[in-house]
Amino acid sequence: MLREKIVFGPIFSRRLGASLGINLLPEKGKICNFDCIYCECGWNRDGREDRRMPTAEELRAALSAKLQECRAAGTPIDSITFSGDGEPTLNPDFPAVIDITLALRDAWYPAAKVSVLSNATRLRRPGVFEALRKVDNPILKLDAPTDAAAAMINQPAGEYHVADIVEDLARFEGAFVLQTMFLKAPDFRTETWVGPWMDIVRRLRPREVMVYTLDRETPQQGLEKYTPEEMRALVQPLIDEGFTIQIKG
Ligand code: SF4
Repeated sequence: MLREKIVFGPIFSRRLGASLGINLLPEKGKICNFDCIYCECGWNRDGREDRRMPTAEELRAALSAKLQECRAAGTPIDSITFSGDGEPTLNPDFPAVIDITLALRDAWYPAAKVSVLSNATRLRRPGVFEALRKVDNPILKLDAPTDAAAAMINQPAGEYHVADIVEDLARFEGAFVLQTMFLKAPDFRTETWVGPWMDIVRRLRPREVMVYTLDRETPQQGLEKYTPEEMRALVQPLIDEGFTIQIKG
């Protein structure tokens, strides 16, 4: 599933309500430094003929027009959500785009949240951490508690060390949402990782944890979802300890 516009929707999101999506990646291809086995955009190797990312000014024009159109039509928007075909922080204009988006949100939908779904791999790049600190919902992915597990589920390009990501996430001092996919695959099940993953959650103390499972077709075949009840049982120790956990089945 690829989005062919810079701004799309609003669509109903299981996690964010009426969500106006922003795709900072190319119109006809996915670009990501992960290649998650469950990615709803498919594999990186598919559909890569288009490498051109929108600029900050193109985003400004598209978002401004869409917000005005939605406002005139009375369309509700709960969240302006960066959730396009890949990793939004790979767009070199990402910090400027966040400033533009916050200003347009304030002008047209001041009650809407600005949310960014990111795989948290680029927090050391200039301006990325600072931009994510400004948004209402920095929703940052950590699916696996070890490098070996991440290699299986996320298939990162180049160096990726969970310890480094945890160190970077700690800089938010809890002011972020941790997002984790729970799934079953022939070689593993999330329940084998959940103990060390919970230790990371206890260390980072995110203001909220979102655990979710498969919702759409996946590029890798043979994956299975958990039921909400199964996921609740897995995270029950964290619930008992007072963590805010959102479970989406
Ligand atoms: S990080 Fe997101 S966009 Fe990138 S491969 Fe994983 S699910 Fe797809």
